[in-house]
Amino acid sequence: MSDINELYKRSIFDHNRNPRNFHAMENASHSCDGYNPLCGDKVHIYVRLDGSDTVEDVSFTGSGCAIFKASASFMTSAIKGMTQVQARETVSKFLDMVTGSSDPEPEDKSMGKLSIFQGVREFPSRVKCATLAWHALTCALDKSTDGEKASSATPDSEARKDVVSTE
Ligand code: ZN
Repeated sequence: MSDINELYKRSIFDHNRNPRNFHAMENASHSCDGYNPLCGDKVHIYVRLDGSDTVEDVSFTGSGCAIFKASASFMTSAIKGMTQVQARETVSKFLDMVTGSSDPEPEDKSMGKLSIFQGVREFPSRVKCATLAWHALTCALDKSTDGEKASSATPDSEARKDVVSTE
């Protein structure tokens, strides 16, 4: 158990100090805000899908604790280049893993370095920090910022704040 915890701590430290894809993005096709009121973590996720529904670029801005920032950093690194479908599958697997509702199959290498976030289970109060950016990614993929008010938008979506909360 100590091996993965040690790797977990070092990776969190490294990605918090030097987060990947930590910047605003011009010409994002999708974006969404997320907020974790339990800890105060705030995130804005930017995604740009290309014509074939592949995540051409993904980035984030925001502020919060080390686990939040490291998880967002890992997430953006992991899903860049995936199709939207693959990205959603990865979100689903990550959430299952971190919340402990399922263990990644030992032969399933798709989670790669993300599997170190199993360590978050040891700290239940931090699970929402680790999942915030992932929920915000799903939120971003569910809506478009390219100006078209899709027919799926609810009538009062203008007034609604596009903020996901992990509460
Ligand atoms: Zn936090």
